[in-house]
Amino acid sequence: MASVVLTACQEEEGAEEGETPEVSVVVSLAIFDDFARQLGGDRVDVPTLVPGGADPHTYEPGPSRVAELTKADLVIMNGLGLEAGLEDVIEENTPSSTPIVELAEGLPVIDGNPHLWLDVQNAIAYVEHIHDALVEIDPAGAEAYRANTDRYLAELQALDEEVAAAIDSIPSERRKLVTFHDAFPYLALRYGLEVVSVVVASPGKEPSAKDVANLVDAIVEEDVPAVFKEPQLNARILELAADDAGVEVCTLYSGTLDKKVDTYVKLMRFNAKELARCLG
Ligand SMILES: [Zn+2]
Repeated sequence: MASVVLTACQEEEGAEEGETPEVSVVVSLAIFDDFARQLGGDRVDVPTLVPGGADPHTYEPGPSRVAELTKADLVIMNGLGLEAGLEDVIEENTPSSTPIVELAEGLPVIDGNPHLWLDVQNAIAYVEHIHDALVEIDPAGAEAYRANTDRYLAELQALDEEVAAAIDSIPSERRKLVTFHDAFPYLALRYGLEVVSVVVASPGKEPSAKDVANLVDAIVEEDVPAVFKEPQLNARILELAADDAGVEVCTLYSGTLDKKVDTYVKLMRFNAKELARCLG
């Protein structure tokens, strides 16, 4: 008799699977959407507040994205002021029973800078943080979440070694970063680069003429081989400075994905290759 009951139960569970996703995980960045899908698979639905190609520092979501928050079982954001345009919206629209997870919480921070995920070891910590949050809101999925997380963490460990090897190929005196905004101190610290200069600390702030002159001086004095713009940000000023200094303008991804670079692994792989190509 026991086996008959068990079979009936299994069939019932099987029938429920494959229907609508069980939990709604609202995330701020497309990168966290990637993380949540890697871990959650079919169990999660992941509405994203900042669409691909938009800048997370300044983006303000429209009504349909805000409405997703009212149905969220879990909200995932970076914290440390990264989502300045979202904080009030998240606070006002998320149900009081829904946990809001800040992924940067508890990790060592450089000067309040929020871009921790550009060090793959920090991304690994983010993924563990998301895993724990998923298990808490959906304990029935614990086994699936653990298996998916372990598989993805192995991929990230290999990625970390791949990025390190690419940057190790650059002669040490050429490992110098000039970028549009201050998004790369964690990447620099982990993989042995030096941040020489940035155009602005954070998007939305206008650089002055003096900032631009200082930038040209820094590029020339430090003998910086190339400068890096980000796809989601207008880089006219960086392009002018590079032109004045006679160096190439290359690209690094920071907080956004697009059609070409549509996962976190692809983002880091693109950055590593671009650094080796432009500085090496
Ligand atoms: Zn940023």
